Amino acid sequence: MVAGSCFGYCRFCTRKRKVGCKQMSVSLGDVLRGLDYIAEHTEVNEVILSGGDPLTISDALLADILERLRRIKHVEVLRLGSRAPVVLPARITPALCELLQNHQPLYFLTHFNHPAELNDAALEACARLVAAGVPVVNQTVLLRGVNDDAAVLKQLFYTLHRLCIRPYYLHQMDLTTGTAHFRTTLEAGIAIMDQLRGPLSGLAVPTYIVDLPGGHGKVPVTPAYVQALGAQARLRAADGTVVEYPQL
Ligand code: SF4
Repeated sequence: MVAGSCFGYCRFCTRKRKVGCKQMSVSLGDVLRGLDYIAEHTEVNEVILSGGDPLTISDALLADILERLRRIKHVEVLRLGSRAPVVLPARITPALCELLQNHQPLYFLTHFNHPAELNDAALEACARLVAAGVPVVNQTVLLRGVNDDAAVLKQLFYTLHRLCIRPYYLHQMDLTTGTAHFRTTLEAGIAIMDQLRGPLSGLAVPTYIVDLPGGHGKVPVTPAYVQALGAQARLRAADGTVVEYPQL
């Protein structure tokens, strides 16, 4: 975590306890302690710059952090998670794109939830990142009454795909206090995924994921395509047909 604030505060945020107040600000000392920890732990080979929104810090500080990370030999891949393309696309300047491009491999994780967020300014910000050779992936939160509709998500994911932004995760809404009204059932999420698999390009279909309570990590939740295993497996196709699949 390199920042304690965001450009806007999302109603569904699962990090409310960590962002938006003065007491939650991240000091340079905190960041340096984090970098020391990473340097001491050779098993850490991938680092996510997160927050809050890491693009709320200056380009100069971001460059300093990225350079320090790049000097740690066992850190191979970087990620930066930001909603700037959605809520403050002007933050995605050519200078920032060049900075990120200079620290590859670095994935830019952004967060569009609805096609209505893909206005011209957002599209241009994403295009600047892609043109600079920065791989962009998107995480979407499944939100009841907002985007829990296969047609809406199909439009979102296909538009992102056309922009060379990979739809990465569709998140089941976390069990965060005060957000229950946004939560769909798993059954509803699975039914939506079932409607996406056939018509959408495979590259445009994200993984529907549940972040398990208790720190057990994320697990994918998929429609039941595998109906039986064994010598004569049975798989259900996207169009509903059950197909025999001989394994021997
Ligand atoms: S940008 Fe991310 S961390 Fe900030 S409020 Fe939104 S979801 Fe939470």
